[in-house]
Amino acid sequence: LGRHDGQIDAVGFEYRGIRFGQDTLHVFPGLCAVDNRANVEATFAAIGAAGVKTARMGAYKPRTSPYDFQGHGKDCLPYVFELAAKYGIQVVAMEITREAHLDEIREALQRAGNPTGVMLQIGTRNAQNFELLKVVGQQREFPVLFKRGMGITLEEALNACEYVASEGNTSIVFCLRGVKSHLGAPHRNLIDFSHVPVVKRLTRLPVCVDPSHSAGRRTLSPDGISEIHHATAEGIILGANMVLVDFHPDPAHALCDGPQALTLDELPNFLEDVRLVRETY
Ligand code: PEP
Repeated sequence: LGRHDGQIDAVGFEYRGIRFGQDTLHVFPGLCAVDNRANVEATFAAIGAAGVKTARMGAYKPRTSPYDFQGHGKDCLPYVFELAAKYGIQVVAMEITREAHLDEIREALQRAGNPTGVMLQIGTRNAQNFELLKVVGQQREFPVLFKRGMGITLEEALNACEYVASEGNTSIVFCLRGVKSHLGAPHRNLIDFSHVPVVKRLTRLPVCVDPSHSAGRRTLSPDGISEIHHATAEGIILGANMVLVDFHPDPAHALCDGPQALTLDELPNFLEDVRLVRETY
């Protein structure tokens, strides 16, 4: 990872004409889980209209319960990539949970004529799946979004990233998404964004925050502002380079994590808040 003991330099990487470094900031709004074509289209349309070229879209969903919706998998890839291209989305962050998913994504992209790029997301539950980490490290085609394991130390998480980097792929973004705690936090997870500057100091990696999976709900705080907005602001004030955030056209009917999704009509304000916080701090 090129640890550099406090000397921040913006190495990072470029992908699909977009630079990811310790001095850039990109928002990846989108569906936690693809549920149907209409919702993908509505979501990409809103993101494109806001001038954003990056988005999140979950096709393969590792769920805590086997009885919960597991994602549409490769069946949704053709319309996800077609619609991403239609609305000018250049990079889609998408989780994979095994090597076959990488092949499916590559094949679907090729069949569509590579109209968009994919950032391969390694989810919190696979943060120490070393064989999967090696697989994404052995290819250079796609950058990797590594999410810290919800119950592992920062050192263990950095070592997990080394599994990717040591195989040859150093196009990695490190994502903080909250950690489990025994403290009875009212949030879904204890928000660990104070580690943003720590990871930036210890590595050359751009750092992402995921306010949605950290807070787990869009409940309003006493000041009338959603907890997702508060968590996002915290991440940006601390220097985050990327924000992965759930939006849905109709959260009440989302097949996965509806309570934490913001609505599409909130997207322009959310982006404006991101801009203002970044400019102010
Ligand atoms: C996600 O981002 O879709 C996800 C499942 O996140 P995490 O792995 O952090 O739970």
